[in-house]
Amino acid sequence: MKYIIVTGGVMSGLGKGITTASIGRNLKNKGYKVTAIKIDPYINIDAGTMSPFQHGEVFVLKDGGEVDLDLGNYERFLDTELTREHNLTTGKVYESVISKERRGEYLGKTVQIIPHITNEIKDRIRRVAAKSGADVCLIEVGGTVGDIESMPFLEAVRQMSREEPKENLAFVHVTLVPMDPQGDQKTKPTQHSVKELRELGLKPNIIVTRCPEPLLEATVSKISLFCDVPEEAVISAHDAKDIYEVPLMLEKYGLTDYLMKHLELSSTGAEDDSWAKMVERMNNLKGEVKIGIVGKYTHLEDSYLSISASIKHAAIECGVNYDVCWINAETFEEHPETVTSLSEYDGILVPGGFGERGTEGKIKAIQFARENDIPYLGLCLGMQLSVIEFARNVAGLEDANSTEFDEDTPYPVIDILPEQENVVDMGATMRLGDYDADLRSGSLAEKIYGQSKIVERHRHRYEVNPNYVEKIEASGMVFSGKNRNRMEIAEIPGKKFFFASQFHPEFKSRPGRPSPPFKAFIESML
Ligand code: GLN
Repeated sequence: MKYIIVTGGVMSGLGKGITTASIGRNLKNKGYKVTAIKIDPYINIDAGTMSPFQHGEVFVLKDGGEVDLDLGNYERFLDTELTREHNLTTGKVYESVISKERRGEYLGKTVQIIPHITNEIKDRIRRVAAKSGADVCLIEVGGTVGDIESMPFLEAVRQMSREEPKENLAFVHVTLVPMDPQGDQKTKPTQHSVKELRELGLKPNIIVTRCPEPLLEATVSKISLFCDVPEEAVISAHDAKDIYEVPLMLEKYGLTDYLMKHLELSSTGAEDDSWAKMVERMNNLKGEVKIGIVGKYTHLEDSYLSISASIKHAAIECGVNYDVCWINAETFEEHPETVTSLSEYDGILVPGGFGERGTEGKIKAIQFARENDIPYLGLCLGMQLSVIEFARNVAGLEDANSTEFDEDTPYPVIDILPEQENVVDMGATMRLGDYDADLRSGSLAEKIYGQSKIVERHRHRYEVNPNYVEKIEASGMVFSGKNRNRMEIAEIPGKKFFFASQFHPEFKSRPGRPSPPFKAFIESML
């Protein structure tokens, strides 16, 4: 197993995740099987209980793991499916060490960070890497070098660098090269952060620098000299027009070749150019569709990262540009008349969400889309609210609601999943991950997926109440995807496009292979 360990210096938000995913993609293009692990040094067991306001979207894996959004980037760049063990957190590590201690597995020893915590980290990394059957395992250490939280993880990879042959490990350090007001590229932050890394016993093999413009030769020489890496291992990752350009940029600066040499990876002869071709299509889009996303976390795009990515994948394959506007649902509650502003969009999307805030505004938006035949895509909560809207305004079930928002509604058309009723813990207790759905023959769902059985990822506690299905269907909404008596898809026939799913198709969309509902949504606007 070859390991590539990616650390970050100077500050967070430099694009370490994209760098990691891009390195992986380039190695995959060369014919290697690549996997990736994200280390998140926080105490949470997983990202499931974290607010999208704080940490961006919670990404959901096929096995139901609720993980950091970087795993979404890994899945999209590597076109793979990962499992929850690929996201290692302090919480998970301590949880298992503490339970081993309670079982007496440490044979009376004092349990300490070194070696017990670090051994647990190394065991987990090696186990996950081996299980994946990959040739190369990328390990991204979250946070910035010097953070207290990440110390045990950095110590664990330091130990690995002594235990493994040197050609099995490459350390990539991602740093910032800012420009001063005179426009000079400054290397001091990089020097300091490499110094900090060295104090921990780690020496980078490659330095990837984030900078507004390409690194000048003089800057490369200076970093090489002060940080003790060859010039060819100082890589310029300057601002790109689009994150999908990053693999091509790193390739251009020779990062893949350098890594292959360092890791003694012999050439497989493979040369997959599908990523480059996808980027070429992305740079040649014609026309534009305008999509309004009516949600709650609208000022933070990271909160809906996979949705943005899915729109992008679909637009690229449809050959059309896209303009996404984030609309705060609460505006339509405070100023109901402003809902007519939605007529300027070619399509309206209501994403998933939790809690009552903004729901009535979203329902107004859905009503406007339905009545004015604007293509509509509803995801999870966006499906539940479209059922509520239809029940109230078409099926005559006045004040219909979800028991999530109104326990005393006369028509609980959305209700808690029976198995959720006695659940008290918040973490990892929802209906999560892959479930299949049978699609009704002749439905829009069957048409857009081109098959009669699908598997998609889930994350919810509430669902369509089966007691109201007959009444709602009698008024014209069709539940065209079902998992036994669980409603997975709602559609309204005769519309340009009205499709809503209980699942989250956005988690399985890939560059070059868009999610079918997203693709059909965009096609309906052309
Ligand atoms: N709050 C809703 C539920 O729990 C929808 C969840 C979601 O959109 N992910 O069922």
